[in-house]
Order: sequence, then C-alpha cells, then structure tokens
Amino acid sequence: DFTKEYFTMTEQDAADYAKIVLQFFQEDAELTCKEIGDGNLNYVFKVVDERNNMSVIIKQAGPVARISDEFKLSPDRNRIESEILGFQYKLAPGFVPIVYNYDPIMNCCAMEDLSDYEIMRAALMKHKKFPHFADHISTFLVNTLLLTSDVVMGHKEKKELVKTFINPELCEISEDLVYTEPFYDCQRNDVFEGSKEFVRETIWSDNKLALEIAKLKFEFMNNAQSLLHGDLHTGSIFIKEDSTKVIDPEFAFYGPAGYDIGNVVANLIFAYANAKFTIEDDEVRTDYLRYIESTINDTINLFNQKFLVAWDEKATERVARYEGFKEYYLDTVLRDTSAVAGLELLRRTVGLAHVKDITSIQNPDARVQAEKFVLTAGKNFILNRESIKTGEDFVNVFHAVE
Ligand code: ADP
Ligand code: MG
Ligand code: MG
Ligand code: MG
Repeated sequence: DFTKEYFTMTEQDAADYAKIVLQFFQEDAELTCKEIGDGNLNYVFKVVDERNNMSVIIKQAGPVARISDEFKLSPDRNRIESEILGFQYKLAPGFVPIVYNYDPIMNCCAMEDLSDYEIMRAALMKHKKFPHFADHISTFLVNTLLLTSDVVMGHKEKKELVKTFINPELCEISEDLVYTEPFYDCQRNDVFEGSKEFVRETIWSDNKLALEIAKLKFEFMNNAQSLLHGDLHTGSIFIKEDSTKVIDPEFAFYGPAGYDIGNVVANLIFAYANAKFTIEDDEVRTDYLRYIESTINDTINLFNQKFLVAWDEKATERVARYEGFKEYYLDTVLRDTSAVAGLELLRRTVGLAHVKDITSIQNPDARVQAEKFVLTAGKNFILNRESIKTGEDFVNVFHAVE
C-alpha cells in the first residue's frame, strides 16, 4: 500500500508503483525495473515497458543518505527537487527533465527518462567534446539565476519562494562540507596520502586563506540572491551532442548566484586535470585541454553577455536602471563565481566527497600532481577573486599552474 506510510521501495515496489499509482503503463504491461542510482543520497529506479517502448524514472529520498546512515536527512528534499524542476522547466525550457508526479507520502517523484543522455562527468572522462555546452549552460544559468532575483522578480513573490525553498538540512551539508571541514584537519576529511603534506602546508596553515573562507561562508548563508540549483557539478548534468539537461536540484535554496556558476567551472577544471595527467599522447592531450579551456572561456563570456541583455530586457526593479549598477552587480556575481570555483576545487580534494575525475587516476604520482594542480588553482581563485571577471581571466588562473 503506497498511500499510507513511507517505506523504502524495492525494484518490484517501484514497478508496481509506476503501474498502480502513476498509471503510467497499460494494465497488462510487462515491466522491468532496475535501481540505477549512483549518487550519495537517493534511490533512482528505472521502470521499463520494453514491448511498448515506454519508461519512467522514479527517484525516492530516504530518511538517511545512501552512502552513510550517519547523514540523517529530511525526505522533504524530494519536494524541493520536484518543485524546483517544475519551476526551472518554465524559466529555462528544454534544460531540465519533465516531472510527472510528486508523492509526499513515498517521498518520490516520477520524471522523464533521460537514458539516451550521458552523465557529463563520465563523458568528459572519456574525453568527449560537446560544442554546444557553453551556450546551453550559460542560458540555463542566466534564466534560473537572474530571473529569480530581486532585479526581475516582484520582491514579495521572491520572498514566498525563499520560504518554499528553505532547505536547512541540505544547506548544512554544504556549510560543513564546502565551507568548514576542508580548512582544518577534520576527521571527516579524506586526504590522499601523497597530498597530505601539501594540504597541511598550503591550505591548513594559511591564515589569510582562512579569513577569506570565513567571509565566503557568511556570504553563502546570508546572501539570498537567486534560487540556486545548489549542486551543479558535472554529475548533475545529462548531455548529448545537441542537448543539455540539468538534474538533481535537491540542494536548491536562495543563495549567491555565483555558487552555481562556480561549481560548473570547477568541475570542468576537474575534467581538465584528468586529461592533463592521464592522456599520454601530446597532441591528443593538448587538443582536449584547449577544448576545456575554450568551454570555460565561452561559458563565462556568454554568461556575461546574456546576463546584461536579459537585465536590459527583464529588469523590473527601478534602481536596477541606475547607471553602473548592472555592471557592479555582475562583478559581484563573478567574484563569487571565482571564489566558489576555488572552494569546490579544494573541498572535492580535501573534504569528504571526492570526484572520479581525480580519484580514478591510477598512478599515485600523477594523482598527487593532479591534486596539487587543482589545489593551487583553487586557492588562487579564492584569493584573487576580485580581479577574475572574464572568460580569459578564469582560464588564466589554472592555465598558469604547472
Ligand atoms: P542523487 O541525488 O542520489 O545524486 P541523481 O538525481 O544524481 O541522484 O541520480 C543518480 C543517477 O541516476 C544519475 O547519475 C543517473 O545515472 C540516474 N538518473 C537520475 N535521473 C535520471 C533520469 N531522469 N533519467 C535517466 N537516468 C537518471
Ligand atoms: Mg546526483
Ligand atoms: Mg549522481
Ligand atoms: Mg542529489
């Protein structure tokens, strides 16, 4: 019985649920179901009716994280995910999956099956190229970030959304894992043996860096600027040649716009580091590194262009028209973007949650080199954030690191 009380579904349960509750398939359909989740928190079921070539995805949030029951988490995150996907579908049409249903008892949502796409992190690790990504993601970022801000949205309407997407538990995860634990010798960190000394000397012993981290943590907690995705790494992006879809926005809340943009940039740099330290052929490596550099360059420059155009077209707030304000505001978003790119590079290397781009590097010396590369770039993104504004500026930060 799916209508009374929450329970964690098995594959069979999910197939029954799709047929009985969703009525997504014909009554006599023969369904197969597989749990395909690979994330840290939730269960993802793919239910297929092969004969009629139909399928649906059911994502269920449990009361604890999938990686460890040490993380107790409100299943309300599934409501947040369902609602923001519906909302982003209107703001940025074509860039998120369709949600068919949200179920507050089973804490699950049903959505469009995107199995004909590839998770971007996996594709980049195979050194594939996606020439339209910068164009797609910059549109997604401008539409979801600027259009949910006080520049465009009515201020009372925006405050209602701030309430809808109040997300204290998932915010706490980011406050701890991104902004706190990586910056001291915390038990929960996971530092690769060969990188320990470097982390101790360049991250944990740097008081100047610590002060900047403190400022940034308070910026994250107190700047309710835009409705963020909140977890926009390349594992939250489904991609194919001519289409990009952003999934998994359960960390959504009102925070600094640069948070999402910075996560995209940092995760492209992880792909860069993977290529830099694993591709042996000089020509192939150089070619792929140029591709990632131009993708980062274009993402930032297209974001800047589209942001200014959308501001002129859509701003409703009177003071937003004052001369110089638009440029000032965009500068603050780019400053935060740079800082968050740095934070993500550091926390995915020092903290609890790592990225495969780095952990899959088999040769321990190469892995240490890759880690020193992203740590050095990360620190520079944070410390020099006031002067990093154009696509070229962003590329120069890591291009210069050996
Ligand atoms: P988590 O919140 O646990 O990280 P995700 O939403 O990232 O869960 O989904 C985990 C995995 O499930 C994805 O990496 C992808 O392989 C698969 N998946 C999620 N949503 C879909 C979808 N709409 N279509 C196809 N596969 C999906
Ligand atoms: Mg995920
Ligand atoms: Mg995932
Ligand atoms: Mg998730």
